Amino acid sequence: MAERNGKTPVIELHNVTKRYDIGTSTVIALLDVDLTVAPGEFVVVLGPSGCGKTTLLNTIGALDTPTEGSVMVAGQDITTASRSELFAFRRNSVSFVFQSFNIFPGLTALENVQFGADVSGKKNGVTAQQVLEQVGLGERAQHFPHELSGGEQQRVAIARALATDNPILLADEPTGELDFATGSRILELLISQAEQGKAVLVVTHNREISRIADRVIELSGGRIISDGPPPDGKADIAELSW
Ligand code: ADP
Repeated sequence: MAERNGKTPVIELHNVTKRYDIGTSTVIALLDVDLTVAPGEFVVVLGPSGCGKTTLLNTIGALDTPTEGSVMVAGQDITTASRSELFAFRRNSVSFVFQSFNIFPGLTALENVQFGADVSGKKNGVTAQQVLEQVGLGERAQHFPHELSGGEQQRVAIARALATDNPILLADEPTGELDFATGSRILELLISQAEQGKAVLVVTHNREISRIADRVIELSGGRIISDGPPPDGKADIAELSW
């Protein structure tokens, strides 16, 4: 296995293509994607709506299977794994922040975060209350999702992912509902997860956010069209605005 940054990669995709056949037409969501990510990398996946970003995250997180190609994540070959292997993989290897949050309407903010940590085999050594405080929701712990704004619900989803200690963190538009100050705080938390050794992939259509990445992967029409450090050098969060 080829190393990346002197480390064994935790994500390796080779020639991954995802096609959807709908009636007589075919949609290509991913095309010939080759991607290797090492532990500790903070990667921003950038591109316009419909370019394949969510499909890429779902493929890495074993929520979708490619039409062609191989996907090796945290030592597990996703394309050949049994259902029970995939179940263990989802619990122990990947933490997800979904674009549509996917928090439970019948659970409070605190219970949603606790549940995420309980389902995962690995906990992060912090309590659900502490993680809610990190995302600025300490006062909202006992509130149900319908009592929270979209941005607050998004932060519950982020807190749930931060409460687990899986080696890969996948976040789909995690600042989509957030104002600049709150979004910056969340990005800081995600960067600190990478500094602790996790592979962190953040999907966004916002080029400004890509400026703080170690590495920017740009997608267009399901293809990776560029992969490298931000073109103008890595910026500090304080330099961003949106
Ligand atoms: P992005 O996250 O960049 O907005 P997606 O990965 O959601 O893009 O989608 C990539 C392409 O695949 C889009 O053209 C989308 O319409 C299509 N697509 C995604 N999921 C499905 C599906 N289940 N059936 C058909 N087409 C899909």
